[in-house]
Amino acid sequence: MIPVMLNWRRDALGYRLADMGRYGQTIIRNGGEWIQTTPLVKNEMLYAEFAGVRSPEHVLNFANRHGYLAHEDTPSGGSFYPTDTGGVVSRDDGYSGEKVEDILEAARLVRQVMKAENSGKKSIPLKDALILTRLLEEEDVGRFRLIADRKRGFRFIFEATSLLNAIWIQLANKAAGGVKFGTCRYCGAWFEMGPGTDKRADSQFCKTSHRVAFNRQQQGKRG
Ligand SMILES: [Zn+2]
Repeated sequence: MIPVMLNWRRDALGYRLADMGRYGQTIIRNGGEWIQTTPLVKNEMLYAEFAGVRSPEHVLNFANRHGYLAHEDTPSGGSFYPTDTGGVVSRDDGYSGEKVEDILEAARLVRQVMKAENSGKKSIPLKDALILTRLLEEEDVGRFRLIADRKRGFRFIFEATSLLNAIWIQLANKAAGGVKFGTCRYCGAWFEMGPGTDKRADSQFCKTSHRVAFNRQQQGKRG
């Protein structure tokens, strides 16, 4: 598997939700110092974390941990949003945001693909397939690069162009390796199972302690 790399940034003061009128709810950075990050290093399951994003609050939590999904930063100046009356508002703080609806839609598509990889059919609704095709066709998702390696001289890496693209490439890598994706019956978190993982392809729990806790819960119910 070729490692996916991403050099990214996160606002030291975090992010917030803001209502931008007709433009809808957005996520905006608070304008602190930028912290340089590598969100995929030691985070093999970032895509699974993103798949769990189902509400504006989840979007905010994800941004606070990893930064914007699509934009590393805004170069300078204000941002413009259409208003209800057909005009345009300019925000003077200079921190343009990302539309929450778009991020929720992206997370839904990631879930669809994970579910499709699990079912033998490997198909997703045509409408979603079209959205996905358009989305990734227009995107420059990244490039292969060689980097110097002390042991082997060099090795290949794939350098992604944004956090969201990195998530897609990470998921594609897993799926290509035959990994299946399960959701834990106890906590609801996504986990990897099947080839290349330490779990059987019919596993129902993310970890042993959750199987134990689930069984205890069931016994409690039975009284
Ligand atoms: Zn669990």
